[in-house]
Amino acid sequence: MKTIMWFRQDLRISDNPALLEAVSSGEIIPIYILDDISSQSEKIGDASRVWLHYSLLELNKSLSGNLRFFKGAAQEIISELIRVTDSKKIVWNRCYEPWRIKRDTYIKKDLNELGIEAKSCNGSLLWEPQEICKTDGTHYRVFTPFYRRGCLNAVPPRIPQNTPLNIKFAEILNLKRNCSLEELELLPKHDWYISMVKNWKIGEQGGLDDLDDFLKNGIVNYKMGRNIPSKKSVSRLSPRLHFGELSPNQVWYAAQQIIEPGDSNLDSFLSELGWREFAYHLHFHYPSLANENLNPKFNSFAWKTETNNIKAWQTGMTGYPIVDAGMRELYQTGYMHNRLRMIVGSFLVKNLLQHWHHGRDWFHNCLVDADLCVNSASWQWIAGCGADAAPYFRIFNPITQGEKFDPEGEYTKKWVPELINIPKKFLFCPWQAPTEILEKSGIQLGTTYPMPIVDLKVSRNLALEAFSKLPKTA
Ligand code: FAD
Repeated sequence: MKTIMWFRQDLRISDNPALLEAVSSGEIIPIYILDDISSQSEKIGDASRVWLHYSLLELNKSLSGNLRFFKGAAQEIISELIRVTDSKKIVWNRCYEPWRIKRDTYIKKDLNELGIEAKSCNGSLLWEPQEICKTDGTHYRVFTPFYRRGCLNAVPPRIPQNTPLNIKFAEILNLKRNCSLEELELLPKHDWYISMVKNWKIGEQGGLDDLDDFLKNGIVNYKMGRNIPSKKSVSRLSPRLHFGELSPNQVWYAAQQIIEPGDSNLDSFLSELGWREFAYHLHFHYPSLANENLNPKFNSFAWKTETNNIKAWQTGMTGYPIVDAGMRELYQTGYMHNRLRMIVGSFLVKNLLQHWHHGRDWFHNCLVDADLCVNSASWQWIAGCGADAAPYFRIFNPITQGEKFDPEGEYTKKWVPELINIPKKFLFCPWQAPTEILEKSGIQLGTTYPMPIVDLKVSRNLALEAFSKLPKTA
């Protein structure tokens, strides 16, 4: 029997439940569909498209060149494929973005009516959103009870499964709508991405290598080190998990094989995987999370309407070195350290009083790990309108954040090399440096490096005033 294996956010052959299911049914037809029609405004961003291109390239190699590529509305492509290839079954791993749930439910129903078996598996979450609920059957809104009481007391996540040894590919001669990987046109016309991809070894093997490296060198100091962007203490596995080059199960169990249970580094790392699960849980139960404030009292919040400062924020030219370092890291590598995501996020929504949608959109386009559920939940958290969110009065000070989390300035100077010669004392506040120090450091404020686009104290007070006007009741 021929079975279609529909790869989506699971670009790997190890620990892939849908692939195992397909292989156990007989010959398979592996496919990937770039469906920008169903995703509409939530289509994959530019940086993620680049990642996707190279990840598909690697997956195709693992499948001995048998992966077939398609572009268009998935429901149309699949029904045509079923007919043309005379397949009796299709298998995929579930995705949880609302537009995908809607589309996949429709496809499943449609195929079942035609007598075709459409089977979906869990290949990308440790616990699916509907599995974790409170004793009264409702879902969680606060992370700690969700994770500690809900997840850790639930049935343990699936143990990673083996890579299928002998995959048999069906011979298909009469496909019409398929195209080449290049014809998916995932790579942009301009060459900004060429240096970006040099930061990564994209694909399943790269993911396994990164996991191995992190478990050997990073996790031992994760709890403290995860806040210091110049240290190699974080895993950088987020794009791997987003595209499914690794399953969270592989990461969850591999970490526990290396580190003794009860170790605080292990606990801290596993709980970050728990935050990922929480974001999916929230998005599942609040399908409008990507667009609407979870806390409706923010609907009347006075975000600024003029957007003239956004460009400076996007391009890393705010005049606040730690903010600019983060934004430049993002643009040049497709990644930003979590501490920086919080600093630049707070700066945008609090000091610049810009709607969190602006941050969500820029991150969505620039991150290689851009994930609708995690990105939206995180921006709502930063803005204060999300579940279990940062309180509105928590406004990160970019000077003290820099001094605390980049004390030697290694991270900041790497991304803002104009400031390489400035003494540590003024690195995070160059406008406070005396003229002779600036001259000696080769800095002309307003020319070689910008003056701050807002005053910290004034903007902080404006934010506190705006937040204090929120309705008192939720
Ligand atoms: P590690 O510290 O090594 O953590 C391991 C894994 O746990 C990560 O790969 C990730 O899957 C998960 N994780 C870690 N921190 C978080 C978190 N705070 N929330 C949810 N999951 C987490 N992460 C994304 O994957 N995609 C996004 O689009 C995204 N957007 C964000 C936007 C903002 C404003 C903020 C503040 C955070 C965002 N994050 C996002 C969460 C977090 O910053 C990244 O997951 C993390 O920095 C990835 O680096 P890492 O793999 O080295 O993480």
